[in-house]
Amino acid sequence: MSQTVTSDRSAAYAARLAETLPSVRERIERACTAAQRGPEEVRLVAVTKSHPFEAVEAAIAAGLTDLGENRVEELERKVESFGSDGLRWHMIGHLQSRKARRAAAVAHLIHSVDSVRLAERLSRAAVDDERVVRVLAQVNTSGEEVKSGFPADEAFEAVHRIAELPGIRVDGLMTMAPFVDDERILAPTFAALRDLSERLRNATDRVGAELSMGMTNDLEIAIREGSTMVRVGTALFGERGSTQ
Ligand SMILES: *Cc1c(COP(=O)(O)O)cnc(C)c1O
Repeated sequence: MSQTVTSDRSAAYAARLAETLPSVRERIERACTAAQRGPEEVRLVAVTKSHPFEAVEAAIAAGLTDLGENRVEELERKVESFGSDGLRWHMIGHLQSRKARRAAAVAHLIHSVDSVRLAERLSRAAVDDERVVRVLAQVNTSGEEVKSGFPADEAFEAVHRIAELPGIRVDGLMTMAPFVDDERILAPTFAALRDLSERLRNATDRVGAELSMGMTNDLEIAIREGSTMVRVGTALFGERGSTQ
């Protein structure tokens, strides 16, 4: 790749973010105001997955500190290039147990713990390295067949169990809503995660209050239902694939 192509791409991402970031922040702020919540209660995770390094560069230059990736290999490459100083890297995609140790080594927060087996692997990695691995338990609150995450009816038991594992800190829960515009489907999907979180936190002090929910399509509804972290890709960086 020539130097010119690289710098053109950097300039393009910087120009795009100069427009999109203020509007995404405004969407978040408005949703917070409408829900009588403070804007500082909702963290913006910028999802750079499948966008090139220039997107990450532009995001950091624009002051974004939380970056989300969904594949371990890509996460590792980006962390290696940009480091972790002042940044928080989020692993948001499905994680195979055999890659648990690698993800734990680079991610500040793993949003996608969806099995006890994966949690046990992460726990072992944490204990071996004498550190704490911070995770969210992903729950399939929509009941869609294709979504990963603990089934809603098993989640209480399962999250309770993984929260007891040594070396793991369960900061909270994560869900992905179906890709629809129907508020009558989206709102209950998010509300179910909040309700589960409340029940868990009444039962144990080992589960934190984070609720990772809301993406480009549905962040307003997620914030209204109590989201503390929105994971936004398309609204910031454009359609994946078209800008690469
Ligand atoms: C890709 C992805 C996102 C971002 O989705 P957009 O619709 O592009 O905002 C959020 N969460 C997860 C788990 C994802 O895989």
